[in-house]
Amino acid sequence: MAKKGIKQSPEWVRKRVESRRGYHPSEETLRKQREVKLGANNPMFGRPRTPEAIQKFVKSRTGYRHSDETRKKLALARLNYYKDHPETIEMIKGENNPMFGRTGDLAPMFGKHLSSEAKRRLSQWRVGRFVGPANSFFGRKHSEETRARMKEKWKHRFFKEKDNKLELRLQRELQSKNIIFQKHAEILGRPDIFIKPDLCVFVDGCYWHGCKCKFNIEWTGTHAEYIKSRMKHDVEVNQKLQESGYRVLRLWEHEILKDIDSCVGRVRAYAETKTMVVR
Ligand SMILES: [Zn+2]
Repeated sequence: MAKKGIKQSPEWVRKRVESRRGYHPSEETLRKQREVKLGANNPMFGRPRTPEAIQKFVKSRTGYRHSDETRKKLALARLNYYKDHPETIEMIKGENNPMFGRTGDLAPMFGKHLSSEAKRRLSQWRVGRFVGPANSFFGRKHSEETRARMKEKWKHRFFKEKDNKLELRLQRELQSKNIIFQKHAEILGRPDIFIKPDLCVFVDGCYWHGCKCKFNIEWTGTHAEYIKSRMKHDVEVNQKLQESGYRVLRLWEHEILKDIDSCVGRVRAYAETKTMVVR
């Protein structure tokens, strides 16, 4: 057997694998091994690893990646395990999962940015894993068709679903307060909610409309420029609507997530009075 603390040479490992080929332990042995793994027979039972040991372990695994075959086997084993233990699925998917329902402002990272130190660590961690030749997709390219499909999905994911979810929440609240409105009226900018005779309400996703909580105006690059152009567009829409005699109210995603009641209150106040205010 391998001695503790001694790293085996590749040659030794190869020989050992070779010698074990065709070895099938008996049911009895397997049972014993399982017991050792599970309970007080395990020499590590009740002895949690020290942080240093964990660090060492993590370090020794850096850059390691299972072969495609092994990954397939692991995925299959996982599926089989779920089949035999349906309660596990309950645990990972349902309310038992500590992350269950923690989206939006309940999510641990809501409204937060990673520190530059964390970003640096993250990018370091990615080296040798997903970046460069370590990525199994390295040097390959999706077909035009797939790219178009992915783009479509991407757009859908970021623009429609997310916005729709927020809109739906607001719509439901307005309905429950008996406020009569029109969805996506045929007016410039297609306001998410229109209340007769002249109030246009927009629900703006924080990231895509450049809210301070998700976007920094000093950022540069294609993506940042794109968001800035959208922000400019929003301003233009506001101006044009106001010139045509409409009033505009823009609600941020984070406002709706944080306090939908006050958002509804504002919509109602603007609908009832005749104030001219954007945001
Ligand atoms: Zn925001």
